[in-house]
Amino acid sequence: MNSIIDRLKEVRNSIASACLQSNRRPESVQLLAVSKTKPAKKIRELYLAGQRCFGENYLQEALEKQQQLSDLDDIVWHFIGPIQSNKTRDIAANFNWVQSIDRLKIARRLNDQRAKNQAPLNILIQVNIDDERSKAGIQPEQLLDFAAELQEFPQVTLRGLMTLPAANASSSQQQQSLQAMQRLFSQLASQYPTVDTLSMGMSNDLEPAIKAGSTMVRIGTALFGARDTKGVKNDNASA
Ligand SMILES: *Cc1c(COP(=O)(O)O)cnc(C)c1O
Repeated sequence: MNSIIDRLKEVRNSIASACLQSNRRPESVQLLAVSKTKPAKKIRELYLAGQRCFGENYLQEALEKQQQLSDLDDIVWHFIGPIQSNKTRDIAANFNWVQSIDRLKIARRLNDQRAKNQAPLNILIQVNIDDERSKAGIQPEQLLDFAAELQEFPQVTLRGLMTLPAANASSSQQQQSLQAMQRLFSQLASQYPTVDTLSMGMSNDLEPAIKAGSTMVRIGTALFGARDTKGVKNDNASA
């Protein structure tokens, strides 16, 4: 079980079994393959095995890979990393989704820069559910006001929430955070009919996240193997 295709099957099986355990349909959870630091060749392999949604964190790296994969016209690109203002034009032009929205200014720029002949950009609000200083994301109390402000922007569509829970949390703490996200998500979905996506769960918390209602898991390591941290640093430096 070592090829990337075997790993894809394993991840799909884990999703299906977590769904089964919580009485959910396996199709109710989407798999986002997080391909940061990994070459376009690997993305193409997964694409040929049926994977369509890919997540990238670093703009320059992503644009290069998109260029190499431009023949795959139904691939769906998600931007999931921190966003600086001077990067919004390229993000608005080259991605289908942006999951890391936590500032109005960034949302406004994406709205203004998204071409009128493109479908609106799908966005998720990133929530800092464990109130970690080091992490991006809005505070849960800010969510409803922030969501209301985003409704002013016709070229972006609010689809839901994304979170990156604390890495070192105990399992009861983790459970609490996941459930808090689930409550925020249902509150938001009850107000906005476009909201249908709760992006929560990574390689090592996929199962509890699905049990807590995640509709999209973002999986890097379990698909591609460990990341080369040197690549990450280089890319950050150029970002
Ligand atoms: C890197 C990354 C992931 C993937 O994490 P793994 O633990 O490798 O599965 C998911 N979400 C975000 C926002 C990331 O930056």
